[in-house]
Amino acid sequence: GEEAFYVGVDFGTSGVRATATDASGAKVAETRVGYGEEEARLVMQSEDVHGVQQTKWHAHETNDIVRGWRWALHAAIVQLPLTVRKATRAICVDGTSATALLVDAETGVSRSKVAWYCDAQPDVAVAKAREWAPEGHTSTSSTSTLAKLACFVDDGGGMSALDGTVLAHQADVVASWLHGRHGVTDWNNALKLGFDAKALSWPDWLASAPVAPLLPRTVHAPGELVAPVTEEAASLLSLPGDGRCQVCAGTTDSIAAFLALAPASGTFSVGDAVTSLGSTIAIKLVSDVAVEDAACGVYSHRLRLPSLDESSGTHRLSESAAWLASGASNAGAACLRAEVGDDATLARLTDELMARPSPLPRTGLAYYPLPRGRPGERFPVSDASKPPVYEPRPDDDATFFLGLLESLSDIEADGYAALRRLGAPAPRRILTAGGGSINAVWRQLRADRSLPVTRGGEDAVSTEASYGAARLARAGVKGAL
Ligand code: ADP
Repeated sequence: GEEAFYVGVDFGTSGVRATATDASGAKVAETRVGYGEEEARLVMQSEDVHGVQQTKWHAHETNDIVRGWRWALHAAIVQLPLTVRKATRAICVDGTSATALLVDAETGVSRSKVAWYCDAQPDVAVAKAREWAPEGHTSTSSTSTLAKLACFVDDGGGMSALDGTVLAHQADVVASWLHGRHGVTDWNNALKLGFDAKALSWPDWLASAPVAPLLPRTVHAPGELVAPVTEEAASLLSLPGDGRCQVCAGTTDSIAAFLALAPASGTFSVGDAVTSLGSTIAIKLVSDVAVEDAACGVYSHRLRLPSLDESSGTHRLSESAAWLASGASNAGAACLRAEVGDDATLARLTDELMARPSPLPRTGLAYYPLPRGRPGERFPVSDASKPPVYEPRPDDDATFFLGLLESLSDIEADGYAALRRLGAPAPRRILTAGGGSINAVWRQLRADRSLPVTRGGEDAVSTEASYGAARLARAGVKGAL
């Protein structure tokens, strides 16, 4: 048949990436650009883009941050090869979770400042979210999208001054530049606003809150086809016009990063998990039950996973709910760089440990490697005053390193046990992402704790969230991730 490509665009914490895959899901191109408008302009000077039209496309947005996003989208896409752009069938955008602003419901132009994912809101705004939402709900945290919405209303002079505006997450705003729709979001981005992903509607407490008129009107399944790219965007970005290139509903950057690791078979099953051994340890587990524990920061995102229809041999997106349960510790591999040494030192000490007779005896050092001077743990146990523990320190660095890896492995195992106590299944297969995934000693310590660690994450085609978004775009059209 005709060539077809799928494009994922990731608006992540550090910049913007676009990844294109072919119809088989293989990565064919990847581009990267920073958030700043100037960087994007420089990138595009070297590309063949239509100057006048380009200026017009950016002209009406006055918020510098949002205009920077628009340039970044533009630059990330036009750096993809023209042959790929011209045969792109679907595009999906992910964004940082709980990064949001108000936009004009007709034109999409920004009507508030941007609140970033990590911005804690003023007490008055958080108090309002707590007044509306049930106790302990995800939307009552100080960085929740609901608290941000409450703050936008205060800053904007109250509801009456905000007629004709609607809340938009980062991914919604970016996708709107492609499909031209406003007030459209997805289940995953909407979770921290208070969306009920079980009932697939805004809950009564939110629908009757004063801010209800500002909620997005339509909440799609991630990857669901929303609308084709507009003729304007198609012509500017050299994408197919006339309805031949669809824009899919998006997701959050961390879910997109999870989807990047989907098995080559194109589907996840209940019990599949990903542990991220980055600066902090984060675990994500595909569950048939939506588990939640606000005190520990545990919540579940809803997914629609592809399933294989045996008779026809084709994939289809399952209508039954699958959940992605997640929890994150404040401890992680950051302690290794901070306490042991740089990455070369970590690699050398790992070799030293590998050279010792196996199995390595347990050190018995009961560390708890939180960042020094920053007590407090959230998950697997919620304890706001839990202290970092790095004592006693053995003379030899390799043993100290081993003790830290043991304690990190215990935290991961306790994390899966905590999800299990909340009703999630035991992990069946754990893929590993992040800087710690290369460490063979760590992998063995995790296996020793009965964690079903499998190779895979580290050999994945790409661990970029933009690749996960591209797979979601492909799933929107073909069923398979
Ligand atoms: P993040 O994106 O969360 O900052 P990364 O996924 O880039 O983190 O991982 C960086 C971490 O990887 C560092 O904190 C470092 O301690 C850890 N790391 C690097 N090399 C090794 C190694 N050989 N063994 C264990 N951890 C390592």
